[in-house]
Amino acid sequence: MGVSLQCYIGPYLSCPNPLVDTKIEHRACPSKECENFGNRYRVTSDQKFCPKCGTEVRDDVEVTERWPRTDTDDLREEIKERLCRFNWNTPDKETRDFWVPNIDGDKISDRNLWLDLDMEGAWPITDTASEILAFQDVFAPEIKKFKETYAPETITVHWGILTAYW
Ligand SMILES: [Zn+2]
Repeated sequence: MGVSLQCYIGPYLSCPNPLVDTKIEHRACPSKECENFGNRYRVTSDQKFCPKCGTEVRDDVEVTERWPRTDTDDLREEIKERLCRFNWNTPDKETRDFWVPNIDGDKISDRNLWLDLDMEGAWPITDTASEILAFQDVFAPEIKKFKETYAPETITVHWGILTAYW
């Protein structure tokens, strides 16, 4: 069994996205006395009645769950996926989204922003400030959109090393 490692080195967007109480509707048992109440995993798609209490299953049972404040699926489509979220599989306690370029990084740096881990070597990085400026320039429309969607005062551009493994 192998481990895959992904490593991005360069400018990125950091966007706090705390979990908040969110009302959503599920297909579930609607009986508040039942331990299956509101739990979408306790009824299968072909069950018309709750296997625990026999109440008819409904599609619009409202429950409150902890969800990230900003829906990044919608945002990703709105920016035509020019940036992608680096941390898709973070644990629930993670409250920050990191966005990195999903397009050719030529306009940001003359080196590859994604580290090729098959290659040994050293890659001196001398001008992080100009990479940040180039990132802000290339992604100006997206950063504007992000400021409208996330809390505007908290969107920040950083330069750093992001790693993920699975
Ligand atoms: Zn039930």
